[in-house]
Amino acid sequence: MSMKSEGRPTKMDSNIDMSGQQTIQTHTGNRALMVDEPLIFEIGSSDRSGVDFPEAPEAQSRLGGLDRTEAMDIPGLSEAEAVRHYTRLSRQNYAIDVGLFPLGSCTMKHNPRLNEKIARLKGFADIHPLQPVDSVQGALEVIYQLAEWLKALTGMPAVAMSPKAGAHGELCGILAIRSALEARGDAREVILVPESAHGTNPATAAFAGYKVENIPANAAGRVDLAALKARLGPDVAGVMITNPNTCGLFEPDMKAISDAVHEAGGLVYCDGANFNAIVGRVRPGDLGIDAMHINLHKTFSTPHGGGGPGSGPVVFSEALAPYAPLPFVEKDGSHFYLVEEETAEEHHAGSFGRMTAFHGQMGMFTRALTYILSHGADGLKQVAEDAVLNANYILRSLEDVLDAPFAASGPCMHEALFSDKGFSDGVTTLDLAKGMIDEGYHPMTMYFPLVVHGAMLIEPTETESKAAIDQFIGALRSVAERAKAGDEALKSAPHFAPRRRLDETQAARKPILVWKEPAPQAEAAE
Ligand SMILES: *Cc1c(COP(=O)(O)O)cnc(C)c1O
Repeated sequence: MSMKSEGRPTKMDSNIDMSGQQTIQTHTGNRALMVDEPLIFEIGSSDRSGVDFPEAPEAQSRLGGLDRTEAMDIPGLSEAEAVRHYTRLSRQNYAIDVGLFPLGSCTMKHNPRLNEKIARLKGFADIHPLQPVDSVQGALEVIYQLAEWLKALTGMPAVAMSPKAGAHGELCGILAIRSALEARGDAREVILVPESAHGTNPATAAFAGYKVENIPANAAGRVDLAALKARLGPDVAGVMITNPNTCGLFEPDMKAISDAVHEAGGLVYCDGANFNAIVGRVRPGDLGIDAMHINLHKTFSTPHGGGGPGSGPVVFSEALAPYAPLPFVEKDGSHFYLVEEETAEEHHAGSFGRMTAFHGQMGMFTRALTYILSHGADGLKQVAEDAVLNANYILRSLEDVLDAPFAASGPCMHEALFSDKGFSDGVTTLDLAKGMIDEGYHPMTMYFPLVVHGAMLIEPTETESKAAIDQFIGALRSVAERAKAGDEALKSAPHFAPRRRLDETQAARKPILVWKEPAPQAEAAE
């Protein structure tokens, strides 16, 4: 069996240099400290333990004969072995705390430690959603204050705090749009989504039962306003527009788009995941938007990645506010309380229900509010300005070596977009991305947006220093030059990572999630 096909390193793999030549043999097959960590089942044994348990007393069974009679075969390790196993595993993971994380559209910014300190305070971390409201006044005040900030920053009159991710927020917004249209007896069936929208937008509309129709992008990478206007009509429930869009460009026609959609009786959803580029500078409410989610885990620096906790509050216009989901935190004098089904007052009576069982991601709310308060309104404005400056610095520093399809139409927003035009025949964006792993970087977003061939989308965020960005630019320049020169070694990169090229389709579709003792003959064959 070829180990390579599983993407596992072999002794050979870890000993080749960039030109593919075999060099030094090591006893372990490891390269320096980059350990190929075995599974815990392979290193532990069921007769070992990190703890000395007292001899169990002869127990009186209370399980009516269902007691376990055999050992559970859980691997045992000493404390030191367990700590090292998990620490070594953690070192195989790329994280924002390890280096610059250029993943476009994801806003992988530094997570200030102050946020963590505040989120760990007992009054925030050790509470339960079913506690009496009188015992969690401080937590409710955090939700209330954060909601006030989000409304002020977006210029919108209402916000639903409970959605737990960007895509979850999209669903929340679309369900509110549907409720509003149904309430006026005008259920419509089409949602228009421009080509430059994030992939979750058409997925959300389809999930909510709408027919999705595409609106083309124009040559400048923006929504084709004329094409959009031509398609509007009595069957169109609304549009979903990502602004700034996934080409890293602001949609200058946003107000005209909103006006046209409203005139045709539809509603406007804006994907606000890229809010980091405009926070403090642009209020989406001024652009006629009816609903927009904000990714707290992007713009407001709460940690994300690896499917970790997200939070996607949705701001609403006057037209949609009555349909927003419950619950809401409201204030009576200095007392905070929850508006729930039993207490929904007149202005929440149209609510479509709940997005989640409770109020949302408390830990993310605390971190986001800490971030907002530590920056203040002026500081947040500077966040957007610096994020845009950093992205433009990358765009202009690399446009001589990488094709930048929209660079001629002016500065970008928070992310720089390049294409694979000019790469040597047979070298792809994927090869370049794998080459960046050998340089010690997590790759940029690839093959997205779809409107650009072999796209590479790079978002440095405002939290990187000029020195860090220069080092990244240097690495990318060198890999891009190798891609143009047709360097063969690039096609088999990464050479220095604990895993080589994985079969990405199989890895996603047929992941092996259960460990099984390898058959003894496999060992003999090796
Ligand atoms: C990240 C992102 C989303 C989805 O947000 P999740 O929190 O990952 O669900 C939607 N749209 C855009 C533009 C994004 O960047």
